[in-house]
Amino acid sequence: MTNTATDNNSSTGSGAAPAASPTATITFADFGLDPLIQKAVAEQGYNNPTPIQAQSIPHVLAGSDLMGAAQTGTGKTAAFVLPIIQKILRHASNSASPARHPIRALVLTPTRELAVQVADNAANYSKHTDLRTAVVYGGVDMKEQVQVLRNGVEILIATPGRLLDHIGSKVANLSQVELLVLDEADRMLDMGFLPDLQRIINLIPAQRQTLLFSATFSPEIKKLAQSYLRSPVTVEVARQNAAADTVKQVVHLVNSMDKQRAIVKVLENRTRQGLSRQCIIFTNSRLGCAKLARALERDGIKAGAIHGDKSQGERTLTLEAFKSGAIEALVATDVAARGLDIPDMPCVINHELPFNAEDFIHRIGRTGRAGSKGDAIALVDDSEKRLLDDIEKLMKRKLEVAPLPDVKSTPGQITDPFFYKPYEPGGALKSANADSAQATQLPDVKKAGITPAKPAVGALLGGFKKK
Ligand code: AMP
Repeated sequence: MTNTATDNNSSTGSGAAPAASPTATITFADFGLDPLIQKAVAEQGYNNPTPIQAQSIPHVLAGSDLMGAAQTGTGKTAAFVLPIIQKILRHASNSASPARHPIRALVLTPTRELAVQVADNAANYSKHTDLRTAVVYGGVDMKEQVQVLRNGVEILIATPGRLLDHIGSKVANLSQVELLVLDEADRMLDMGFLPDLQRIINLIPAQRQTLLFSATFSPEIKKLAQSYLRSPVTVEVARQNAAADTVKQVVHLVNSMDKQRAIVKVLENRTRQGLSRQCIIFTNSRLGCAKLARALERDGIKAGAIHGDKSQGERTLTLEAFKSGAIEALVATDVAARGLDIPDMPCVINHELPFNAEDFIHRIGRTGRAGSKGDAIALVDDSEKRLLDDIEKLMKRKLEVAPLPDVKSTPGQITDPFFYKPYEPGGALKSANADSAQATQLPDVKKAGITPAKPAVGALLGGFKKK
């Protein structure tokens, strides 16, 4: 049986607060969280819980299993980490003995990036307690992780494959786990983790509390929940299969060959509008990702690539460079679609549409987080129209199709071709400057508040005159 919790903005969107906006009427003190946890939360600068936190925390504290439909950026990590800390705080010990620090809470995530992010949050929220947190994921040496696990840890965040490695070598023992979290469960299923998940869950005592978070509730997710959750409460804070309302979405129809140039235009346009150029650009393949990053660099855009062929160290460095602003365009495959916690990400560009419509929602979930405004731009060529249909069906809305910004015709920015090019007899407007050809077209010039001179005169006098 499934209970549904109050759903303050799941269905209509009529006047409801955005999913990530903190709910002003409730405070963290209302949950009865230990002062050590409240102190850590206050240090994070959180004044009020977000809707997913407001709705989930009381149920988790009460011991219910829970299915949370929450987009990235809604504050879902604290929604499960805070009550987990509260529930296992009674076991906290300052003893050095590993036996006093068995794994009490296990959080499984699909990607290393998400694992690291959840672990960072857990370490922050528990920093005033004696509880220990650790993270284990694949792709890096096991030695250090082995040592951490041997020392003992109460809250473990792990990707499934690496956790099974540690279990296989008897370094990790799940027999005292009381709370299990499946974070971004839909993604774990997409990535083929179901057999690993089943093996892991079978090693955890049946007397446990299980929390499942997923951006979307597909039939497979519901089946997973039926198998492993008991009478879960369902909490939804955003319309299912929808992007945050704070994201402005637009589609530009372009030829596949022109997509790179389109990105340059989009970024130039953002500069001219005084908007941040920081963006994540999604591609479908590792090769395409690396190629696009290099090509953008050649176009003078500070770009970096993050995909599955990069080592963990490289990914971390690239992410840090992106967060510091040294990189303005992070070109990524879906491995980065999840788990990157970049607050106020202003813009996401889909260089290609994903094959799986749900991935589109995850991708654009990188922007418009925690109530901030964001732009999601999709570059769509003819071959992708079917994918666009699938996305629109899933999101239950048509996306606005708009022409690419005509950067050269932005008011105040118009370049006078004659000013830069020496006068060519007979060349007049059309030969003035191939790159500025669009700037010479009448409608754009009109938009820019400029009166074109008669071509012949214009050629002699140096082009257009301002009114
Ligand atoms: P998450 O959905 O867990 O990835 O969280 C998204 C972002 O929201 C993170 O940067 C969190 O630090 C931030 N956040 C989480 N809870 C709150 C809150 N109650 N108030 C303000 N920001 C929050």
